[in-house]
Amino acid sequence: MKKIFSCIQLFVLFGALVVSAIGQNRNDYDLLLKGGHVVDGKNNISAIRDVAIKDGKIAAVAENIAPSRAYKTVDVSGLYVTPGLVDIHFHCYGGLPGEESSMFSAVPDLLTFKLGVTTVAEAGTSGWRNFPDFKQRVIDRSKTRILVFLNIVGNGGGNSKQEQNLDDMDAKATADLALRYKDIIIGIKTRDYTGPEWTPFDRAREAATLANIVWMCDFGVLRPERPIKVLMESKLRPGDIYTHTYAGLRGEMDDANQPIQALWEARKRGVWFDVGPGGGSFLFRSAVNFLKAGFVPDSISSDRDAGGWSVGQINTDLLNAMSRFLNMGMSLDSVINCVTWNPAREIKRPDLGNLSVGSPADVAVLHVEKGNFGFVDMYGARLKGTQRVACDLTVRDGKVVFDLNGITREDWDKLGNYRTRLGDRVWDGIYPAGRGSTGTGKGK
Ligand SMILES: [Zn+2]
Repeated sequence: MKKIFSCIQLFVLFGALVVSAIGQNRNDYDLLLKGGHVVDGKNNISAIRDVAIKDGKIAAVAENIAPSRAYKTVDVSGLYVTPGLVDIHFHCYGGLPGEESSMFSAVPDLLTFKLGVTTVAEAGTSGWRNFPDFKQRVIDRSKTRILVFLNIVGNGGGNSKQEQNLDDMDAKATADLALRYKDIIIGIKTRDYTGPEWTPFDRAREAATLANIVWMCDFGVLRPERPIKVLMESKLRPGDIYTHTYAGLRGEMDDANQPIQALWEARKRGVWFDVGPGGGSFLFRSAVNFLKAGFVPDSISSDRDAGGWSVGQINTDLLNAMSRFLNMGMSLDSVINCVTWNPAREIKRPDLGNLSVGSPADVAVLHVEKGNFGFVDMYGARLKGTQRVACDLTVRDGKVVFDLNGITREDWDKLGNYRTRLGDRVWDGIYPAGRGSTGTGKGK
């Protein structure tokens, strides 16, 4: 009898030790993404790795991290795990109430998380006059990280009429505001200029220089008075960004559909080339030939706005833009680099677009669908393809904010008589533990 008792004692003691060990270890990480193929261009990783998150930051990336060390483990084997996607040409501001630009207003969180996008740069719909309204009504209320290219036009670029106003292009006022909101305003934008003057471009460069940020150039309508050769050779500074590279609208392409020499020279000088296909800035005749010639993009962005949806234009969200380049022959790793580490470097935000320990825990989990797909350019011409990028899971600041197939969830028939939200605020941004929740959480 005495012997049996001591066996029970030992068993209880052992059990208590195990429980306490698990209890301790389980607090090492909040969320563990296990078994995925990590693609992280900054850290030169393209391999099966586990990614652990703690307190909204990347805590570890390693070959094998024990699930017992994490509060929540998600099996992402067979999927790609990348830094949260960074879309540096995006539109999500409608201008001040009453402005005719309201069509441009897209609710950012609806157009980002389902695509794996965790950071966007609003590309010039606001200027120094209406930025405060944009910040208060959209930026501060969105879960998506919204950075801003401030339009050189004080009233912003909500409609093309106000973008022609040379009297509202104040480099000093623009730079002053940019310096005041350094954490948000990462660049200056020119857009849709139709006149023969260099004024908007010179002022944008001046503002960007004063504020020590980049200039993203939409070269507007091509005019013989301001040839693209001059822009490439002497206007854009090293580190500035030329967007709409494959539109074929502004002299980028010669008669043989090849990139002009000035583009190669500008690239050598350190000018970045961005895609920004949107509804009217992408031509397969240009893109396919440029890629064949080796003129690949530095960053792939979407130029997405709400307008394209309402008038039934082509569906160029960021995953669609990525898929085009995959089907034109770019490797998946290169494509992913073009929506993560490269754009982060272009906007001088090296804290983003990577999975380094200590970086914000913004993560996308993706897969590549195989089948028969089609992609349509600005004039309505199609490129057939066999691959399409899809998003399974998005993590923003360490919390799951999109989960296409419920891979973070338990099966309903194993949960008994559940009647409340099942999430847990430690890792869950969709059904966080709240009033009436069964999620125990850690009291965060
Ligand atoms: Zn745009």
